Amino acid sequence: MIIWGSGGGGKDLGQIELRNCPTCEKTRPFHLYIQYKYAHLYYLRWVTSRKYHLACDVCHRGVELETKAVEAKLEKDPIPFMTRFGWTFLVGLVAIGVLAINVGKH
Ligand SMILES: [Zn+2]
Repeated sequence: MIIWGSGGGGKDLGQIELRNCPTCEKTRPFHLYIQYKYAHLYYLRWVTSRKYHLACDVCHRGVELETKAVEAKLEKDPIPFMTRFGWTFLVGLVAIGVLAINVGKH
């Protein structure tokens, strides 16, 4: 049985700045949030979409940010390694399988 599926995750990447929140009408700490979606086959995952938001820590309202602009500033990718690169293991397994089949022929 092949187990296909999809899921998502999110993470608070911490406070970025203090700015005036139009909803609270006060100066609030704004946090950077990431939301991502992934597809998976068994436990192998790959990311299908990601979005960044800058949102007020109190009312959680904010603005969506451009992914490329945010990632240019991030020191490391906030998405867990296996979620980003799980698919490479799948490719590796397929490559090994193909190799094994070809070796078996000779
Ligand atoms: Zn607010």
